Amino acid sequence: ALAGETPRADRLIEYLHRLQDEHGALFADHLAALAEALQLARAEVYEVASFYHHFDIVRAGEAAPPALTVRVCESLGCAMAGGVELAASLATRLGADVRVQRVPCVGRCDSAPVAVVGQKPVLHADADSVAAAVASGERDEPLPDAIRFDAYRAAGGYRLWQAVRSGEIAGDTVIAALDAAGLRGLGGAGFPAARKWRTVAAQPAPRLMAVNIDEGEPGTFKDRHYLETDPHRFIEGMLIATHVVGIDGIWIYIRDEYPALRRLLAGELDRVRAAWPDLSPIELRRGAGAYVCGEESAMIESIEGKRGMPRLRPPYVAEVGLFGRPTLEHNLETLWWVRDIVAPALAGGPDPFASRGRNGRQGLRSFSVSGRVLRPGVVVTDAGITLRELVDEHCGGMLPGHELYGYFPGGASGGMLPARLADVPLDFDTLGAYGCFIGSAAIVVFSQFDRARVLAENAMEFFAHESCGQCTPCRVGTAKAAELMKQPTWDAALLTELGTLMMDASICGLGQAAPNPMQSVLRFFPHEVGVAGENEEGAA
Ligand code: SF4
Repeated sequence: ALAGETPRADRLIEYLHRLQDEHGALFADHLAALAEALQLARAEVYEVASFYHHFDIVRAGEAAPPALTVRVCESLGCAMAGGVELAASLATRLGADVRVQRVPCVGRCDSAPVAVVGQKPVLHADADSVAAAVASGERDEPLPDAIRFDAYRAAGGYRLWQAVRSGEIAGDTVIAALDAAGLRGLGGAGFPAARKWRTVAAQPAPRLMAVNIDEGEPGTFKDRHYLETDPHRFIEGMLIATHVVGIDGIWIYIRDEYPALRRLLAGELDRVRAAWPDLSPIELRRGAGAYVCGEESAMIESIEGKRGMPRLRPPYVAEVGLFGRPTLEHNLETLWWVRDIVAPALAGGPDPFASRGRNGRQGLRSFSVSGRVLRPGVVVTDAGITLRELVDEHCGGMLPGHELYGYFPGGASGGMLPARLADVPLDFDTLGAYGCFIGSAAIVVFSQFDRARVLAENAMEFFAHESCGQCTPCRVGTAKAAELMKQPTWDAALLTELGTLMMDASICGLGQAAPNPMQSVLRFFPHEVGVAGENEEGAA
């Protein structure tokens, strides 16, 4: 697994991947040898390997898993499209030689239901197409048809970065352009990007950067879309940030569910390094199936080779982040916008980002739309657009025969809104009055054929599965809530008290946001769970 390199404990998860890729699972003697090479206790290696869902540990006396695993997504969009039933039928159809697993969101909600055969996704899957994919022997996804390095440069790419790097464009000018555009962190938290750049730049060197491509929020697939189409636009934004903030090393963390994108990015980064050998070091790191690692401090722990457990703050990662150094942490999409915000601002032209927006909001947003709409996909449009406008103008309306019943405005954690609130502007800070938030703008639309309570149960089970277990309100609360939500009539008082406790006392956003869909049901869809609520929605 070490392949001739000097062992580094922070690369533990990379080594575990190499072992598993080569041997099909992690065996006890491999873990012991790895611990010795890294001078770690065996328990440390084991606790990391056992934390991540994508590692298969074979303990003494256990049989190795079958050579092929088919993962069937069971998160919101895929569940609505029959993913759970598909998994059940595949388990009998494919036989004992193939392992069928129900897994959380694989980031392809626009093609639900999705099954992944080895590493090859089968879109709009049914039992026949998955069985055919198994029989075909193909296990890898081909590289996407993205704009590659030479084409990007030929079209003027990297000129802006070179102007920043040479000092022709001052760093302050770049930050001022981001400020004027109102660019905010687009991973979900919405923290103003310019303020983050200034804060990290003011910290002592060495300063590091961590890029988050671990979009695991059920319903979110925008980062995949951007990487599949124009990866160098993101890389150029990242390099601009590197020079403006004074970054000495970059770590890019990409989710394990995107193997083709990881190969694509590795190859394109090699081309960038070959063109400019004096770049700051860039390391590409592979996640291992843990939603919580989308949380910035959990991602940093994971990059350091540990379990992805969120840190208590303060100190914030801008001050004490990766390897204890000040760290600029950004989602891929935030960096993707940098080039097109800064270039027009310098040329004195209209800013395509800041000049957009409707219903009193400013900027562009990337909405990942899935569920019961005719044309699901990534929609880049005005911040502040309403759900009704989004579906009618960009998604071809609802599926034939389906009427809008409700929607998730921000993935599984952002809560749910009923159809009567389809005219609320969708943006940061506009949904708080309804107990919801937009997060990464993952819009999951549901109809009269769906039950809000079933979707809320799905979300709570997801959070229970993904809780890192570090704090009791989240670890116990998610599991307890998921159990209570199975009752035909919900105990509204008990669930409300439990939800309040989780929100108040959980360490990170996972536990704090987990009660949102449950509370949305109590507030907007109470008739489904036999309790009195604010307003009963007219479901069929
Ligand atoms: Fe872990 Fe949940 Fe606590 Fe976050 S809230 S630190 S996921 S147990």
